[in-house]
Amino acid sequence: MTFNELNLSKRIVDAITKAGYKEPSPIQEQAIPLMMEGRDLIACAQTGTGKTAAFALPVLNMLDNESRPHPRALVLTPTRELAIQILENFKKYGRYMRLHTVCFYGGAKQGPQIGAYERGCDVLVATPGRLLDYMNQGIVSLRDIEIFILDEADRMLDMGFIHDIRKVVAEIPEERQTVMFSATMPKEIEALAKDILHDPESIKIAPTTSPAETVDQKICFLEKDNKKIVLSDFLKQDNVKKSIIFTRTKHGADHLVRDLGKLGIESMAIHGNKTQGQRQNALERFRSGNIKVLIATDVASRGIDIPKISHVFNYDLPVETESYIHRIGRAGRAGETGESITLCSKDEMGLLYDIEKMMQKEIPELETELSVSIERVQRGERRRFGRAVAAAKASAKEDRFSFKKKEEKLRKLKNQKKASQKKTGFEKFYKKNGDIFEEATKAFEKKQKNHSGKKIKEETGKKKEHKRRAS
Ligand code: AMP
Repeated sequence: MTFNELNLSKRIVDAITKAGYKEPSPIQEQAIPLMMEGRDLIACAQTGTGKTAAFALPVLNMLDNESRPHPRALVLTPTRELAIQILENFKKYGRYMRLHTVCFYGGAKQGPQIGAYERGCDVLVATPGRLLDYMNQGIVSLRDIEIFILDEADRMLDMGFIHDIRKVVAEIPEERQTVMFSATMPKEIEALAKDILHDPESIKIAPTTSPAETVDQKICFLEKDNKKIVLSDFLKQDNVKKSIIFTRTKHGADHLVRDLGKLGIESMAIHGNKTQGQRQNALERFRSGNIKVLIATDVASRGIDIPKISHVFNYDLPVETESYIHRIGRAGRAGETGESITLCSKDEMGLLYDIEKMMQKEIPELETELSVSIERVQRGERRRFGRAVAAAKASAKEDRFSFKKKEEKLRKLKNQKKASQKKTGFEKFYKKNGDIFEEATKAFEKKQKNHSGKKIKEETGKKKEHKRRAS
């Protein structure tokens, strides 16, 4: 299939051609015609499948190059990085159109965002918190939204945004087209889908199980304690120009930054415990070549598109098997070649077994001075490593849990702040209207006293009467 066969306007096809896309990806082939028919859609697809263009192209096509006073399309996405990436994609695909795309996200000044919105906004891309904030301030109107895209719904759930989403949805006209993307379908997301989608079509794009051919994969078998030193030796080689290192946990990422620093290698980490500003700063410095080494967890790196990465290192093997493909796919993008080096210790052999089984191939070994000889796990032995896999899964879960706890704490603090603001509001009111307030309170108390006095009299009267009759 070609982009021409998708009935997209010439302006859009020209922009896609300029972007260098030759043919639609499977998700684009399936989603674009359905969206152009006006159908609601639920799509199980991960980042890297071309899902942004899958919704952005039909949205631009449907807006038909006609700018109006209020936004007609809304894209909700969980993080600032994704919001910026989606904005850039809309700009890229809409380069020959008059439409305006505006982006709202937290951790940045309001002024420029509001300024851009007021100059004209046809497509609004936003993170839920900041959008709600502007809605509460009466800055944004969603009354003309015709198409609503909910991106990475499962991640929104993980980050505690589900209530915010429902609040936003309540402000969008019921008569709209809704499209939801989610890599996984936990039951909360299924329930949300039931509430916000109308008779949806569903699409499922199987996660990629074979890696890009432009990535040369290698594996080193090592003692766990030697991983750091071997990694630092690799990072000091001349051909290692720009690399991402994946760790399983956030703490692991922070420790590695510190330990590599001691070995003279500057790096930065991105993970869920970093603020948006810190993450953005690390990404910008990495993109611009200011730092050569970025350390990331799987969730934080999801959806981040950085070109020209020469090496991907798996410092820990991923627990989710498909993550291996996503991780190494960061190198060797856009026709360039890249290399992936996985550092594997004995307790990770079960995870390696799963990865190699999925790819149906063995990753070639790269020997170093500190290599140890480890036999690959055979089918029957897989169970022996079940414990290691379970432990790894538990530690990943713990990381997610601590994030939720932090969110909870933040929410509590926000509520406390709101309560104290309310109190100061009352104090101000009291200072101004203290006399009237006191008068009113006294009058109220008097009335209440009289009322209860009357009631007591009535009741004792009744009791006396009752006694008299009884005797
Ligand atoms: P996404 O899954 O939307 O984050 O897209 C992943 C990467 O694929 C981005 O760098 C896109 O620019 C690129 N891309 C999207 N659609 C196509 C296509 N049809 N052909 C080639 N590259 C594409």
